[in-house]
Amino acid sequence: MAESEHRRTRNTSLERYVTSVSVCALVVMFWVVRASGSPRVGDRWPGLCLFVVLLCACEIKPITVARVSGVKETVASTTFAFAIFLSYGPVLAMCAQAAASLLGDLCAKKSGLKLIFNVGQYWIAWGLAAIGFAGVAGGRTLFDDGASWRWNLGVLTAGVLFFVANNSLVGAAIALSSASSMKRVVRRTIVQEATSDCVLLAWAPIVIIVADRSLVFLPLLLLPVFAVYKSASISVEKEHQALHDVLTGLPNRLSFVDALQRRIVQPKLAYKQAAVLLIDLDRFKEVNDTLGHHAGDVLLALIGPRLRPVLPELSIIARLGGDEFAILLPTVQHQVDAISIAAEIGRALEAPFPIDDFQLEVEASIGVALFPDHGRTTDELIKHADIAMYVAKSRHSVTELYDSSQDHHSTKRLRLVGELRRAISDGEITLYYQPKLDLHSGAVCGVEALVRWIHPQHGLVLPSEFVPVAEHTGLIRPLTRHVLATAVQQAAIWRQSGHELAVAINLSARSLHDGGIVHDVSEDLTRYGLPGRLLQIEITESSIMADPARARRILDQLHEMGVNLSIDDFGTGYSSLAYLQELPVNEIKIDRSFVTNVVDSPADQVIVKSTIDLAKNLGLTSTAEGIESAPALSWLRSAGCDQAQGFHIARPMPAHELGEWISEARARDSTQTLKLVSQGKHA
Ligand code: C2E
Ligand code: MG
Ligand code: MG
Repeated sequence: MAESEHRRTRNTSLERYVTSVSVCALVVMFWVVRASGSPRVGDRWPGLCLFVVLLCACEIKPITVARVSGVKETVASTTFAFAIFLSYGPVLAMCAQAAASLLGDLCAKKSGLKLIFNVGQYWIAWGLAAIGFAGVAGGRTLFDDGASWRWNLGVLTAGVLFFVANNSLVGAAIALSSASSMKRVVRRTIVQEATSDCVLLAWAPIVIIVADRSLVFLPLLLLPVFAVYKSASISVEKEHQALHDVLTGLPNRLSFVDALQRRIVQPKLAYKQAAVLLIDLDRFKEVNDTLGHHAGDVLLALIGPRLRPVLPELSIIARLGGDEFAILLPTVQHQVDAISIAAEIGRALEAPFPIDDFQLEVEASIGVALFPDHGRTTDELIKHADIAMYVAKSRHSVTELYDSSQDHHSTKRLRLVGELRRAISDGEITLYYQPKLDLHSGAVCGVEALVRWIHPQHGLVLPSEFVPVAEHTGLIRPLTRHVLATAVQQAAIWRQSGHELAVAINLSARSLHDGGIVHDVSEDLTRYGLPGRLLQIEITESSIMADPARARRILDQLHEMGVNLSIDDFGTGYSSLAYLQELPVNEIKIDRSFVTNVVDSPADQVIVKSTIDLAKNLGLTSTAEGIESAPALSWLRSAGCDQAQGFHIARPMPAHELGEWISEARARDSTQTLKLVSQGKHA
């Protein structure tokens, strides 16, 4: 509704402008006819006829030239109109120009408003030129006066006045129709047209001289015009190629950024909102992989025509690359308008696309960012729309409006999360296992399962890259289920091959408080036939303290299944010791930030020793994580720590490597293993 209101206001002011131009044109024409009297043609009528024919030919076939702001048409008729003006007087020039302009506009099927405006604009411009010419040269033609200095000066004055008046009137019309700054557009039009108009006007006296010698030579003057046509059309084609996507014919990223930039700097629209919409087709890769690139290409080419009808006038739709499209809505009244257009786009894409013999269904994720609220530069707006789009992807919603609280997700992270669901089902999410050593016996007493994403492009992705974002987007549930099932299955396999190893998994706060975890654990233990005591669950203090009563209920249920519970990263959060004592916890894992430098840091030594003692007094196992050196391992053993985990013992590794590692460790005497480890030689 806002858009149509704007359009109506623009149209009214444009109509008023054209009416004023038309009235002025009539007054000017009246004055010119009165001032210059009846035109004198005499026996020079063949020349006049030829000029008129050439004038009409040039109006019918405009030259297309590339400009920074897009492709524009210009006409070479000015030369012949000016030649008539100088040889036969302004009245005939104005009549001939009006006839040619009407003919050209009718051929191009221009609107009535444009038809009237173009004639009016020419009449005013030639009328002013006539006033200037009359003032300086006394209105005498070349044939009356010869090339006297007054005539030369008159030609110059008339040319300058025509050029300035004509381009100012056109510039004002462009400014009104695009709601841009009048001053800026008029100045820009004058500067842009200066070169071509100067050449065309300067040609007029030459045309007159040639015509005076022989009319036969006159059409030869069109040869340079043809040369201009040719080079202009080549440059337009090149310009088009540089700014458009070959496959879809839509503007490309460069062109979109340029249009967005022009919209941002438009002073008249500085306080109005604009919207950037980024669209990503969710199942495009599948189309390419299963039906081939041809089908993918056809699908991409169908997107633009499908979306055009649902977009407001003046919107720009571009293909940024791959299956990513962008839309610029230059004015939106409220953010809900942008969201409802985005929703309409989503609906438009829902209908199946006919490709070859298939009816292909695609889904889209659309991110919306608004100018100026979500960014004042092209980079910011596109980046924020991109973030919103990835949030939409990960939430499985069609449309999301950018929200600054999404900022902590970097685009790359969100991109990863967008792919995470697929990665889980495609088996890209795997577990590495890091052994834990019993410091009293030297035996391997368990392993911690640490999630890894083997990404086809990015390689190994660590949990810190995707677990926190998965937590924010609801993907943590499928991730945790996958980790749990994989870990339980692996522990069952090791058990069958004779290695009774307790496997520990990490549970984030979201998963702990998600009621489904108890059910999932029970189901997996039953499915793989693993006793509960061989599964351990690591939770942090803060995730327990987020909702202690609920945490307690869940932990109690897990404990009843025989599952061991461990407080991870102990010392880094806040917890009530009295409360911890009541929980069915078996182990405290001392955070690696206190352990790694324990040998050199008396402060860390105090913390670690106190924690070991605390665990002992509460009847819990103490485990130190992050042991990176033999001295640290020795220190912990002498401090009475029960278990140890760290790079010095072994780095996290894939299941098959861990199997070999354990077999080697068990082949040696356990105490020997511990001794080797203490001496800094990896077992
Ligand atoms: P965490 O549970 O404290 O896991 C121990 C982390 O310390 C692991 O990092 C491990 O590779 C690293 N580490 C082990 N020994 C050493 C050492 O000697 N020196 C140093 N500097 N680091 C050592 P990772 O695998 O990058 O995991 C980081 C965190 O991501 C984990 O901390 C855990 O909180 C989380 N995480 C890992 N897997 C999962 C999962 O499946 N689910 C959830 N919710 N979180 C997970
Ligand atoms: Mg852990
Ligand atoms: Mg930890």
